Amino acid sequence: MLSSLREECPCAVCKGEEIMGVRYTFGIQIMKPGMNELTMLQPTGNYAVQARWNDGHDSGIYTWEQLRSIVEKHALSPEQIQAMNN
Ligand SMILES: [Zn+2]
Repeated sequence: MLSSLREECPCAVCKGEEIMGVRYTFGIQIMKPGMNELTMLQPTGNYAVQARWNDGHDSGIYTWEQLRSIVEKHALSPEQIQAMNN
């Protein structure tokens, strides 16, 4: 379940970046130990949360809207969402 969240990481490294209308992906996804372990979920302003993963990756900032659509897409249960916050 957390791996779904990691897969949907919206940062430029994971999702690529659009420069002058061209999408560049740096997203060669390397499996790292701990990459699907969430170490911190910190609110950023009042519109987003920043996720820090156990492999040190912390550039993913999810807006509440993105979080919500990830939850809906993967049909996470309230218990699973609760577990992310522990
Ligand atoms: Zn990322």
